[in-house]
Amino acid sequence: MTNDIWANVLSALKGALGTNSYSSWIEPLEFTQLSDGVAVFDVPTNFIGNYVSQNFGDQIIYHMTKAGEDVQRLQFRAPSQARAAPKPKISKRPVEPDSGAPLDRRFTFDTFVVGKPNELAHAAARRVAEGGPVTFNPLFLYGGVGLGKTHLMHAIAHELKERSPELSVLYLSAEQFMYRFITALRERKMMDFKQLFRSVDVLMVDDVQFIGGKDSTQEEFFHTFNTLVDGQKQIIISADRAPGEIKDLEERIKSRLQCGLVVDLHPTDYELRLGILQSKVDVYSAQYPELEIADGVLEFLAHRISTNVRVLEGALTRLFAFASLVGREITLDLTQDCLSDVLKASDRKVTVEEIQRKVSEHYNIRLSDMIGPRRVRNYARPRQIAMYLAKQMTSRSLPEIGRRFGGRDHTTVMHGVKRIEELKALDSQIADDLELLRRALQE
Ligand code: ADP
Ligand code: MG
Repeated sequence: MTNDIWANVLSALKGALGTNSYSSWIEPLEFTQLSDGVAVFDVPTNFIGNYVSQNFGDQIIYHMTKAGEDVQRLQFRAPSQARAAPKPKISKRPVEPDSGAPLDRRFTFDTFVVGKPNELAHAAARRVAEGGPVTFNPLFLYGGVGLGKTHLMHAIAHELKERSPELSVLYLSAEQFMYRFITALRERKMMDFKQLFRSVDVLMVDDVQFIGGKDSTQEEFFHTFNTLVDGQKQIIISADRAPGEIKDLEERIKSRLQCGLVVDLHPTDYELRLGILQSKVDVYSAQYPELEIADGVLEFLAHRISTNVRVLEGALTRLFAFASLVGREITLDLTQDCLSDVLKASDRKVTVEEIQRKVSEHYNIRLSDMIGPRRVRNYARPRQIAMYLAKQMTSRSLPEIGRRFGGRDHTTVMHGVKRIEELKALDSQIADDLELLRRALQE
């Protein structure tokens, strides 16, 4: 085959594959010979050879045949196999060992406090961190802001690196994935990009909801994902919501994300918040041995700051810094002084009407049925939940609440509040619902 013919084939391939794929994959090929129906190419790495063969092999054969050559098969030779001295056409940096985004040293399993809302996510993370055969792929962790997704992912990465230093573990946010992808496209380094992402043993992508609506990034993510899963490599993903609920995410990606283990981190409950505070206090007490913390302060914070763990931690840090500055014991008074803005923000005024609306949406009943007279269980239970939340979250008296529930008597409200208090302790579904609703109302 003459060089002219090859040049024609190249331009046909460029038209067929598009400039990006062409410059990433076809340009690096160096045609060397064609004999007995076998076309031989020198390629910079085996990886490129394999990739081109799998993805573009048919097209190359097609266009060579169309140009009048008899081609049955393609052969790709990387430098170690090439007989002639390698002449890489493009100057390709070897892929640097890449650890992705930096890991926070503090985010380990040791510092992660386990409670009911996160025990499943924690157990799944532990299991993945043990390494060994891949049992569920991907592991998909989801939950609201500040509930410990990133913490758990870093913990897995730390643990894997310690147990199996030979594994290449890549952690990054979906935003960084996109950024790298775009940069690679622009700088014509798609090969490096693909090689990097397809050569890892464990890939962790944080906050994957970010790629919703970013079509070409999704496409690339999908291919990376499939290649790694096919190669039995572990993938760990986090998002702020369940796969099916991520906006503008392709269906095929949603379904891929769902085929491993999907676990959610529930909103924190009082006990977990208290546990986290206690563990942080242990750390601070070592740093500020002179500081005392009065009884009841942690309980007060765990009760009053229920938004997210990050806010809780920030409050505690501020409290310790403030107390050490003024050299005083951390009392309830000092806490209220020092954190008045945080407490106020957590204390956003909620109205009974908002509560009724949220609760009826949550249970999928009409607002009029919640307030109306019917006593069927489907309406009565949400009604009691709304009464309970109204009592807890507003300063309305029982008679005032009763009036807003279709003119019911204050004893009815009291009964409802009591009933939910009892159920909360017995029924974890109700306890979860209450926390969820409370959080939603505070946002
Ligand atoms: P997310 O990624 O879910 O938004 P992060 O993992 O960044 O949340 O957590 C926010 C902060 O709260 C971090 O400082 C993290 O260490 C802390 N945190 C969250 N959950 C826990 C937990 N169960 N135990 C200890 N710290 C936690
Ligand atoms: Mg995070």
